[in-house]
Amino acid sequence: MMKKHSRFSASGFERIVKCPGSVSLSEGLPDKESAASREGTLAHEVLEGILKDPSIVLLKRNKGEITDEMVEYGRQAANHILKLRGVLPNSDLMIESKVSLSFIHPEAFGTLDAAIVDYFGTLHILDYKFGKSFVSPYENWQFLFYALGVAHQHQWNFSKVRMWTLQPRVTGFDGNYTFWEISIDELKSYIPKFERAIRRAETLTTTYVEGDHCFFCKARNVCPLKAETKLLDAKKAFDKKLSTMEIEENFY
Ligand code: SF4
Repeated sequence: MMKKHSRFSASGFERIVKCPGSVSLSEGLPDKESAASREGTLAHEVLEGILKDPSIVLLKRNKGEITDEMVEYGRQAANHILKLRGVLPNSDLMIESKVSLSFIHPEAFGTLDAAIVDYFGTLHILDYKFGKSFVSPYENWQFLFYALGVAHQHQWNFSKVRMWTLQPRVTGFDGNYTFWEISIDELKSYIPKFERAIRRAETLTTTYVEGDHCFFCKARNVCPLKAETKLLDAKKAFDKKLSTMEIEENFY
């Protein structure tokens, strides 16, 4: 049986790749829900509801929990998924499905938004983003995670995989959603990279690397590197203030 929390989750995999120490540091820390993460969760429930059970959307809408924007963007993303599925009549649609990379590590699993499984054709991985900052599908570790999991589950019986960012707030120059497509062989070439990232997280348990990925790290309030950076920044600000005072003193 799968554990509820994945140490090597799909959504956190970019952070795992970039900051190996973040895995150990995050262990045992509670998941704190911010306004943005609550909004994202609700937006995903709306999409799932439109695709699977519209009564969920109605219920939450009646309670005033979801906004018109969430419904409109959810509808746009759902239309794209269903339209794509419509031209692939022999395909299977996966919605909010568990994806496991147990062939790489038993604690590597996650939940994908949607996938269209077109046997012997293209595997479509569709990830819904509600935020305003564009999320590129290119070499996106979260998307690759889902693609590897679903392709492995179906014995790699695809010619290629297309990974989509469904982000209604940010579409491409032509108004369409953005995707990244690779062959199944290229997808398989990422297996050793995933293995290496997990190995590094298990061995380099105190190696921290800062970056944009820190924003989603639940250990950021206890991170030694963050504390050091804050101290250095405070020292720099103090030194700058001192030198300004010296200049002013000399001037007057
Ligand atoms: S806050 Fe950033 S540097 Fe610190 S553990 Fe998390 S990801 Fe790594």
